[in-house]
Amino acid sequence: MNTKYVFVTGGVASSLGKGIIAASLAKLLQARGLRVTIQKFDPYINVDPGTLNPYEHGECYVTDDGAETDLDLGHYERFLGVHMSKANNVTTGKIYHTVITKEREGAYLGKTVQIIPHITDEIKRRMLLLGKTGNFDVIITEVGGTVGDMESQPFLEAIRQLQWEMPEEDLMSIHLTLVPLLRAANELKTKPTQHSVQMLQQAGVHPDIIVCRTEKNLSADIRRKVALFCNVKPGYVIQSIDAPSIYQVPFNMHAEGLDNMVIEHMKLECRPEPDLSALQAFLDKLYHPKSEVDVALVGKYVELQDAYKSILESFVHAGAANECKVNVHTVHSEYLDENNLEETLGHMDGILVAPGFGERGLEGKILAVRYAREHGVPFFGICLGMQMCVVEFARDVLGYKDACSAEVNMLTQHPVIDLMADQKSTTIKGGTMRLGAYECKLDKNSLAYRIYGKEVISERHRHRYEFNGSYLEEFEAAGMHASGKNPDTGLVEIVEIPSHPFFIGTQFHPELKSTPENPQPIFVSFIEEAKKHRNNA
Ligand code: GLN
Repeated sequence: MNTKYVFVTGGVASSLGKGIIAASLAKLLQARGLRVTIQKFDPYINVDPGTLNPYEHGECYVTDDGAETDLDLGHYERFLGVHMSKANNVTTGKIYHTVITKEREGAYLGKTVQIIPHITDEIKRRMLLLGKTGNFDVIITEVGGTVGDMESQPFLEAIRQLQWEMPEEDLMSIHLTLVPLLRAANELKTKPTQHSVQMLQQAGVHPDIIVCRTEKNLSADIRRKVALFCNVKPGYVIQSIDAPSIYQVPFNMHAEGLDNMVIEHMKLECRPEPDLSALQAFLDKLYHPKSEVDVALVGKYVELQDAYKSILESFVHAGAANECKVNVHTVHSEYLDENNLEETLGHMDGILVAPGFGERGLEGKILAVRYAREHGVPFFGICLGMQMCVVEFARDVLGYKDACSAEVNMLTQHPVIDLMADQKSTTIKGGTMRLGAYECKLDKNSLAYRIYGKEVISERHRHRYEFNGSYLEEFEAAGMHASGKNPDTGLVEIVEIPSHPFFIGTQFHPELKSTPENPQPIFVSFIEEAKKHRNNA
């Protein structure tokens, strides 16, 4: 069987959930025993989203192999439970970078280098790359942006060419659109969908399936109308109705027959029904919580939900594992001060201080750490959040009032968080942090070890600064324990306060590996402790 390719494009509006549709289809095919992966092609010129502000593009997701990627790759991993890699996220920037580098090397000597064929050839090469490994039966490619954007055109042209080059049964095109409900008329409107498909067809790409995002069920009439005017087979127009959880979407897509359409069209040999029992078990717990907790997520990118996507998802997973509803209260660290601290955090069952960069909102994060430490509230600090545990402890317990991270105060007498040695010579910003999976060895006599139940773990990183080892003995003597270290370099990965009911900070990002079927252990324990804290309050 040839490797099969499914392309998912979107129209009418952004944020319709193309990533979730792609991930749901992948999940359904995987649950039938097929080997599936997903890749995201983004039309922006940044080589990767690592240099983008979370306000612009949401969280930057990091893979085991150290790629800084679009947050949709997080969804892919959470749905499929398989690891993504550098090859799974390609941007216009990467494509041009490759072509221009080749041009400088003389690869096109004598030729005019053009969008067609050079850029589109490079796009096609990358679209087919993972298929060449022989590791996958189906590759699903999500194309970022919306049809009609000038910058998506080379991607659509590449799909058009592939549609022309490949046997019909090896390639499918799915187009996701919005069917808005006009409330005043109480009517669902299909015109934007028709226009979007027209635009896709103008680019030469013919959709095989149209998925309509809607808040109300689409009648058979509406489906027929869309099929007729968009020139797809009747029955190949399906709905994606607003769902209470994104993990419900694979079930909804199965009910709409999406997987069957793909399997039939592509003549895929696989199990007659998908086995989604593990995901179903997760949903059963998610939908029927027996308790609830309130936790604070303290950060500075709180206006945009997507900025902390993986943390929010990890709470969903850990909540279900505890059969507990987790109410996440986002707290803007910039506005947290002595006067509103009690009022904001006093009723919380747990406090998580988020990752981040730069000075803004830092003092608020330190206050939140102090509150949790002094009041025995379950605490979890991630990356910058862990670094602020260290700073807070240095200031309040060790008495170093000007202690700080060198990231924001280069002149401090006590840089308890300092630039990593190998970062000192780095001036280039893109892709130069400490990125990806590294091992961490846990002290057997620690909270971290009790949580993970093993001595060596591997978690993902994205940072430039680290715990300054020259202070280690002082911290240990005063009651902050470095319970996890990199086995090769000794770099401190985890700090905890053994005298506190639950206080842990991790230099790595545990949220990047949590999935509904394998919730991240620190998050699970944190919610368990939050439940205890609430019951004791
Ligand atoms: N700004 C900090 C550093 O670079 C923390 C990064 C983060 O939270 N991801 O080390």
